[in-house]
Order: sequence, then structure tokens, then C-alpha cells
Amino acid sequence: MKPLLKQMIRAESTVKKGELATAEVIKAEFDRFSIPCQIDRWDNNRANVSAKISSTNQKTALLLAAHLDVVPPGDALWKHNPFAGIEENGKIYGRGSADMKGSTAAVITAITELVAEKAVFKGDLIFVGAAGEETDSCGAKRFIEQNKDNFGDIAAVIIPEPTNFDIITAHRGIVWLRVTTLGKTAHGSMPQEGINAIYSMNAFLTELRSTDFGIEHPLFGKCSVSVNTINSGNAINVIPDKCQAQIDIRIVPGQTIKSVIAEVEKIFARLKQQDSTFDAKVEVIRHCDGLDTDPKSDFVRKFCEVVENPRTKTVGYTTDGPCFASLGAPVIIYGAGVTELCHKPDEYIDIADLEKGKQVYKKIFREFLC
Ligand SMILES: [Zn+2]
Repeated sequence: MKPLLKQMIRAESTVKKGELATAEVIKAEFDRFSIPCQIDRWDNNRANVSAKISSTNQKTALLLAAHLDVVPPGDALWKHNPFAGIEENGKIYGRGSADMKGSTAAVITAITELVAEKAVFKGDLIFVGAAGEETDSCGAKRFIEQNKDNFGDIAAVIIPEPTNFDIITAHRGIVWLRVTTLGKTAHGSMPQEGINAIYSMNAFLTELRSTDFGIEHPLFGKCSVSVNTINSGNAINVIPDKCQAQIDIRIVPGQTIKSVIAEVEKIFARLKQQDSTFDAKVEVIRHCDGLDTDPKSDFVRKFCEVVENPRTKTVGYTTDGPCFASLGAPVIIYGAGVTELCHKPDEYIDIADLEKGKQVYKKIFREFLC
């Protein structure tokens, strides 16, 4: 398991390098155990990798959905090269060691050990390592689109993100918007001849701050809205004809992107009614729904028993979970590694956690599939 993780870290899967090299490392590992595995490659270096242990079909399948990509190492100086996969004092360091190559290596090793032990599978075990989770979930969407008609029934989707072995059943989603107000340029000494896009943006933002986006979720309350960048103007003596703001909205489960856009457009309409020169447009930069698995469902209750942890939790970050929820099965996020180390310099995973992850995943597979 340790050599597998180190190879996965060395197969740098940033946006720049793509996921193909990591997919190849995983395929080679499944190949060693004659487990059917394939790589789906596109755009030169992008890739998903998937494997399937076929069964006697007496039990319902499980889908294990990992992601292959990692975020860039950032500007901070690391103790070790972030893509060297260095082992030191019971830890393996590297970008992706926690998020989520460590937990993924534990899942893969749990699978290959069960196969080597000649475990009899009564339910199919499907594994996917998907591209692009850190950006747009392109790999998960592509995998689901290509396979949704062949899956058959799935008992649950388990996402082995590093949750420190907490059982996560819900998280908020993301809507990132770019709002542009449009005006008319004029000489700075004659503002009455122009339409100042900054003033239009000011009017929009004032309205936005008092807008109630409606939905209130029992666990998360209301969505959060924050205007985090604003850009406008070229010169001190020119009336700006364009102003852009980027808005980070964390939607709650059940809240749709359509309803958010509709609220923004209502603000535009109100402002236009007050001032016919008001002009604005809204674009979506990124969108990801929230996740809301019923913690009282049969599968989640049994899962809690199997991993001997009675509590489920909610978190603030997002995952590929909502994409997989579209399959209609409960989605659980559960895995080895410390969440707080994700996306940070000197990211690592404790080898003890890797080992515990492998054991607990073997137990999950035995209980649900054997
Ligand atoms: Zn992750």
C-alpha cells in the first residue's frame, strides 16, 4: 500500500499535468491482481480509471468513488518536494497524500487483498477514480453519463475523502457568479454624459445584501453570500462603462442554481424599473449542488454499525457526492486522513491511518458485499 501511494503522489495530477499518470498507476495495481480495469482518456492527459469486481449478484452493488486530481502545491516552501512521496516518522508526505490519494490507496489495497484472499463477492464492487473534482467534477459527470445505464441497482456510493473516519452525509453546494454592470463611457469632467458602471454595481450590491434567497435548511440554515472581487475603471478621468463583481454563494441542499439566478435577475428588473439606464448580466463560473443523504436510511444506519461510529456529520466543503446522488443511491463520505491538511503545504497522511483505512474498508466490503 505504501509503494502504491508514493507512486500515486509522484504521478503529479494537478490541472497542468492531468490525471492520466495516476490512472495508469492504479490500473497497473489492479492488473497485478487480474482485476478488470480500464482507463477512459480525453484531452490528451485527462483520465478516469474504473474497475469492477463482478459477483454472484445476490447482494446490491457498492460504488466507491474517489478523485484522482490534486490542487497545486502553492507558493509556500514545503519541507519535502510535494511530488516526491517521502516517508518520514510514520507519515507519507506529498500533495494529495491526504486529499485523497491516501484513502484511495487504502480502498484499492482493501480490494486487492480481498481478491488475493479469494473472498466470494455476492454484490458487485465498482471503483472509480475520477478527474477534475477540485475544479468542475468533469470526471464524475463523464463517468456517470457513460455508465448510468449499465450499473444496475446500487446500494450506496461511498466517497473516500479524508474525513478522519467521520461519517459525512451532508454538505452545502457552491454557486459562483460573475455579475457585470454595463454603462457608458464619458470624460471624467462630464459625468452627466456617461453611465457610471460602478454606481450601477453599487446599486446592485446594495440590493443583493438585503435579498433573502428563501430556502432555509434544517441543518445548514440559509445560504451564505459574499462578494469577494470587484473590478472596474481604467483611468481617474474616464467614466467606467463596465464593472465586474464575483460572488461566492454557498447554497444549501435543495436550493437550485435556477432559483439563485432568478433572484439575481429579479434585482436587475427592479433596478431597471427605477432607472431605465441600468444594464447588467450574470454568468455562472462554477456550480455544484449540496448533498443531503438521509442519516436515518437503512444503509447509513448499517454503515454506522459496521464502522462502529454512531454519529453522522455535516461539513462545509463540497465533493463529487451530489453528482453521484443523481444515481438515486445514498451517498456517504468516509475515509482515512485529516481533513484539515487538505490543500495545505506539507500535506501528509499517517501510515497508521492508511492501515486503519484499509482494515475498515475490508470490513465494509465483507459486510455489504460478501
Ligand atoms: Zn478531495
